[in-house]
Amino acid sequence: SECQLHNRDYQVYDASLKAELMDRFQLESQLMHALPNKELSLHYQPLFDVANEKLIGAEALLRWHNPLLGFVGPDQFIPVAEESGMMIEIGYFVLRSAIKQLASWQVSGNDDFFVAVNISPLQLADPILVDTIEALLETHNVKATSLEIEITENVFLGNQDGVLQVLRRIDALGIRIALDDFGTGYSSLSYIHRFPFSTVKIDRSFIANLETSSVNQHLVTAIISMANAFDLKVVAEGIEDKIQANFIENAGGHIYQGYHFGRPVNVDDFTRQYIL
Ligand code: C2E
Ligand code: MG
Ligand code: MG
Ligand code: MG
Repeated sequence: SECQLHNRDYQVYDASLKAELMDRFQLESQLMHALPNKELSLHYQPLFDVANEKLIGAEALLRWHNPLLGFVGPDQFIPVAEESGMMIEIGYFVLRSAIKQLASWQVSGNDDFFVAVNISPLQLADPILVDTIEALLETHNVKATSLEIEITENVFLGNQDGVLQVLRRIDALGIRIALDDFGTGYSSLSYIHRFPFSTVKIDRSFIANLETSSVNQHLVTAIISMANAFDLKVVAEGIEDKIQANFIENAGGHIYQGYHFGRPVNVDDFTRQYIL
């Protein structure tokens, strides 16, 4: 009868909800030990100058390998880290690792090479963030200009004056600030103007179907000319083929990032492929 059907639907729904909660619980309880168990590491994805296709930097991307869960992507575990209070500590692990790595790569003679690090909006609310970054740079003898931080448009949802103050202090140190995933979130031209960004990163959803979507072609062209008008560098994320790269070059973009040029790889591979 209809009633039984309903009942069964409910059970299916209930079972999947329960599975989701279990997954989430397991993720959180495993993540709690990820740092002490040394399950977290950084991979680096190369960034190339559009003008000459030379390496100019890398984005640091967090990786988690857990013995029980296998590889878990940052899109899955970063929100869990944020909601359960682990993000600040994990964020310092990322900053410390990236700055140490920069120091060792710079010894190899790549003076202008920079590393971009993703920062969660929660980290910007941490009162010791800026002092800690400054101390890390000093300890490892790394120039502030070798570090870039990436924040997403989500920061505009929070306390904007607080965020602006922190970003101004970071900018004053000489660290560049990039607006990540541009075009996907809550943003406006007035923020780009008011906040001390030096770079915008066009989200890869706009790059993915450039060939077929004239809307995206217009959007990407408009973002690049807007950025050029504000004197911002433009990174195009997610470039997977030559056609997309050519489009970005012709539109006046500055930096390529994507599988077409190089995937994120571990430190040893990055060093072998790009530094040595
Ligand atoms: P994101 O900062 O926008 O990083 C770029 C993402 O695009 C990376 O995914 C990268 O692997 C992927 N990507 C790059 N080129 C291509 C391409 O050509 N094709 C495709 N399909 N993908 C490409 P990943 O490593 O899975 O990271 C996902 C997101 O997780 C990042 O997006 C960032 O928001 C977050 N994340 C990663 N590491 C950290 C971290 O250390 N701290 C914080 N707060 N967030 C992080
Ligand atoms: Mg990023
Ligand atoms: Mg991005
Ligand atoms: Mg993203």
